[in-house]
Amino acid sequence: MIHRRKLGAIPRGIGMTSQGTRDRLVARLRSKGIADEMVLKAIATVPRHEFVDEALSSRAYEDSALPIGLSQTISQPWVVARMTEVLLQGGKLDKVLEVGTGSGYQAAVLSLLVPRVFTVERIEELLKQSRRRFHRLGLNNIISRYADGHIGWASQAPFDGIIVTAAATQVPLELTDQLAEGGVLVLPLERNGGQRLLSIRKTEEGLEETDLGGVIFVPMLSGLS
Ligand code: SAH
Repeated sequence: MIHRRKLGAIPRGIGMTSQGTRDRLVARLRSKGIADEMVLKAIATVPRHEFVDEALSSRAYEDSALPIGLSQTISQPWVVARMTEVLLQGGKLDKVLEVGTGSGYQAAVLSLLVPRVFTVERIEELLKQSRRRFHRLGLNNIISRYADGHIGWASQAPFDGIIVTAAATQVPLELTDQLAEGGVLVLPLERNGGQRLLSIRKTEEGLEETDLGGVIFVPMLSGLS
């Protein structure tokens, strides 16, 4: 049984702006194979236009990645939905970790589905902006940290699920170490000159990898900025 926060209890601050455009995005994601109704409902709820620069807000409900400054991007909604869907297939989720807060959009989607969301970002300016958004939208179950996500968040481990939203060259061992048994790590990995989205489940016998297809993410970098 997967525990999910009731979507009926939408935090204060999430308004109805652009509900029609969000609903059209949801219809698009559904037609592109996203099937988890709770995930679709979360996408229908989170105001993506609040997570991009005002100049780009008219494009916020297109199914595409958009620049968020400092050479980074807010992920494409389909990718956010797919990664979230895969994470939720991992069983009961009480706490999850995201590496790469960026705009904060993925964390906001997760915050409607999982009781506690931990997220880390290596670019301080982006983290400051996303914290302001979480506060404004009343997303009080997101706890964020300015850190290099390669080392995860040991004091909060184990996590029932971990999402990495930047492409790593190899699976960071700290992250699989910080995964609870039965939990899933979803991450893009550089492989043979391209990037593959992988789901890695921790079982009693070890790690089970599933290749979910090709993706395009910004690189996972080391150190702070
Ligand atoms: N989840 C974000 C996607 C942002 S793009 C969103 O929904 O908007 C990926 C982010 O990962 C960037 O902000 C980048 O700075 C961050 N990142 C890259 N390497 C990282 C690392 N080692 N630790 C933490 N964050 C990292």
